[in-house]
Amino acid sequence: MHTMDAVLDTFSNSSVYRGRFAPSPTGPLHFGSLVTAVGSYLDARSHNGEWRVRIEDLDPPREVPGAARDMLVLLEKLGMEWDGEVVYQSQRHDLYRAALAQLKKETLIYPCFCSRKEVAASKLTGIDGPIYPGTCRKARDNGQNNQQQKRSAMRVTTDNRRIKLVDRVQGFLSQRIGQDIGDFTLRRTDGVFAYQLAVVVDDADQHITHVVRGSDLLDSTPRQIFLQQLLKYPVPVYMHLPLATNRRGEKLSKQTFAAPVSQFDVLSQLVAALRFLGQNPPQALHDSNLETFWQWAVQHWRTDRIPISSAPVSFFIK
Ligand code: GLU
Repeated sequence: MHTMDAVLDTFSNSSVYRGRFAPSPTGPLHFGSLVTAVGSYLDARSHNGEWRVRIEDLDPPREVPGAARDMLVLLEKLGMEWDGEVVYQSQRHDLYRAALAQLKKETLIYPCFCSRKEVAASKLTGIDGPIYPGTCRKARDNGQNNQQQKRSAMRVTTDNRRIKLVDRVQGFLSQRIGQDIGDFTLRRTDGVFAYQLAVVVDDADQHITHVVRGSDLLDSTPRQIFLQQLLKYPVPVYMHLPLATNRRGEKLSKQTFAAPVSQFDVLSQLVAALRFLGQNPPQALHDSNLETFWQWAVQHWRTDRIPISSAPVSFFIK
């Protein structure tokens, strides 16, 4: 076992492992999401752990009808079996509402009436865009929030405590949310719950012990740990995988017209994902079958081989 893994396994203080794959159904699975699915699956199975699937259909305008179903069909074709029922964020709004109510009771959130334009005009820029200047927080503190009849977003009151993270692949990271991010939204003006809130509520509610996902979410993790602290939830162990990019170095996504994972020739795409993750599959695996592939991959999964940096998909799939 990788030394950092050994340390973290002691930290997590339990032999229970429950991981998850949490795709947003905004389009078909592409090589980048395949890498995340494979990485999270292998890490769970090699720990004799559970692997859950959660469909993150939080933002209806961004969703593609049928995408969630197609993803599940594809996972089955890839031979990836999940544990328990698939959960859908669209059916879990009560949980998110309850978490907001808990934070509200402790006056840790406040309504925000600022327009997007007003926020964008902030003079301060943080890790993830403009830092909210705190207009509505000051108004609340001065008892001046008299716009209750208007629809509002909800923001969390951040502070400058240091949030530390030891990621199993990316290493040490620390942020002070107040100065690096600012008060961020937990619910948008249109009523849509923010990813940061939903993911934290779901990971806790589903007792997820290990989160394995793409490194585009590394910068979001301190925000999630901050919320876990406010909500008194346990903090899972995190591992952020390198991102697959196109030739221009852009992350594969619907916006960059990433090619969908094909239903045919699934084995060679799985082998490519394994190689992308730094594993060293023997040539014979190309000509084997799914069962042999997964057996080999689980047995030989080595997190110390996972590269830190992103790489173009064209190195792995011709
Ligand atoms: N739904 C997110 C995505 O597809 C992943 C969220 C997560 O793994 O925390 O990018």
